[in-house]
Amino acid sequence: MAATPENPAPTTPRRKPGRHRGEGQWAAGHFTPLNGNEQFKKDDDGLNVRTRIETIYSKRGFDSIDPNDLRGRMRWWGLYTQRRQGIDGGKTAILEPEELDDEYFMLRVRVDGGRLTTEQLRVIGEISQEFARGTADLTDRQNIQYHWIRIEDVPEIWNRLEAVGLSTTEACGDTPRVILGSPVAGIAADEIIDGTPAIDEIQRRFIGNPAFSNLPRKFKSAVSGSPQLDVAHEINDIAFVGVEHPEHGPGFDLWVGGGLSTNPKLGVRLGAWVPLDEVPDVFEGVISIFRDYGYRRLRTRARLKFLVADWGPEKFRQVLQDEYLKRELLDGPAPEQPGEVWRDHLGVHRQNDGRFYVGFAPRVGRVDGATLSKIAELAETHGSGRLRTTAEQKLIVLDVAEDRVDSLVAGLEALGLKVNASPFRRGTMACTGIEFCKLAIVETKARGASLIDELERRIPEFDEPITININGCPNSCARIQVADIGLKGQLVLDSEGNQVEGFQVHLGGALGLEAGFGRKVRGLKVTSAELPDYVERVLTRFQAERTEGERFAA
Ligand code: SF4
Repeated sequence: MAATPENPAPTTPRRKPGRHRGEGQWAAGHFTPLNGNEQFKKDDDGLNVRTRIETIYSKRGFDSIDPNDLRGRMRWWGLYTQRRQGIDGGKTAILEPEELDDEYFMLRVRVDGGRLTTEQLRVIGEISQEFARGTADLTDRQNIQYHWIRIEDVPEIWNRLEAVGLSTTEACGDTPRVILGSPVAGIAADEIIDGTPAIDEIQRRFIGNPAFSNLPRKFKSAVSGSPQLDVAHEINDIAFVGVEHPEHGPGFDLWVGGGLSTNPKLGVRLGAWVPLDEVPDVFEGVISIFRDYGYRRLRTRARLKFLVADWGPEKFRQVLQDEYLKRELLDGPAPEQPGEVWRDHLGVHRQNDGRFYVGFAPRVGRVDGATLSKIAELAETHGSGRLRTTAEQKLIVLDVAEDRVDSLVAGLEALGLKVNASPFRRGTMACTGIEFCKLAIVETKARGASLIDELERRIPEFDEPITININGCPNSCARIQVADIGLKGQLVLDSEGNQVEGFQVHLGGALGLEAGFGRKVRGLKVTSAELPDYVERVLTRFQAERTEGERFAA
């Protein structure tokens, strides 16, 4: 039975309350809510809001929604109110939440492991056109997000999604969010191990499970057996990374405690090797530690990364083994440096069965319902009906016969989706930004798309892998700190002293075995209008001065 305020067993303190007694940990007996979020979660499980949406809110409309549901529990079903149109970024921190709320919602569809069928993609496209004004963004967590959703339409959207095996359950909220998976799981010729069965089992056991629906904050997971390290494992709360154990064969290296936002931390290895069939149990142990020992007093310290940083990997592993798994984990090796710098699987690649997969790039993850329906059509006529989303805001069509590849590539390119993309299109990501996000200070998607176009026009010869991540505020949904060029949206002064949209620049961040955070260049801020000039200057200077084999982030 799970530890809850009502049922503290089995993780009632078996140890003396430690130095974090004041952090609101359930395992230290702190069941009295210490902030508004903990209070509404205690008052009613976020999962329960679904019934009210179906029976009350969708029938009586937006104004009937309880504020604690509107700005709290609806996230448990993937719903956030979107930003009221026309409110500039200078007002974001000043206005009350209800002044920022529009009567429309963002709705996030979880795509665990990034796996989609053409039937699912077609339904996603139809919903977009019918209920979401054509919107459908690919996120950097393999999800798809709609905007302009009316509460009245939500039950019908759920019906349609669930009829094809998709859901929005715990797509947001203090829950186990979507489980990232290698976009080429099961088909890559160089795969170490296919993590798909573990993702399915985690989903079956823990998603929508009330034992894990009141976590201190969100819980981000990743499972990949690809040597390309293609799920940003370094910045997830828990990650299973494919490795070959010298005695026991393929399995996973366990990482915990990664996360970006305003206080970024890279995940740490616990030095433990986990076989495929034990991944769900280890997942349960780690998420249980988070639920029971995670800090609940301050939202800003409630992610698992703070507990991991305080405990250190040795203690974390010991608690996991002693209190949750009741057995020792095997020691194991670390992942190796991938041969490929890009993690996006773009281009045409041979699969392990001789067929091909084709990865392609929209600009900054922005597609639309009509385009998704056309992609589904192409995938059906050229492949077997399987697609994948990536953690880089890209898509992949699987199972293409060799003699169908050229036709598929031509069809995708005709839709403006690049298989042979420039480094700028491959490497530029943008979060939702001020168009729809209530926390945003600046515009991001259109800015990112025009930056790609400008850089392709100005420096077409640039051939270096590069990541340019554009965020609308300090929250880092598009991973500011681990990009070669990370851009954090804020208001800046232009040359005439006017406050305008712009970015704080971070340079030289990276993921991979040399992962690290970019340096915040003191005083280096650019206005949005100056952005193409600035990035062009940085990149051409790098091109001119780089030494043989030097990468931008080096
Ligand atoms: Fe919104 Fe900020 Fe996240 Fe962008 S980084 S989606 S602006 S919260």
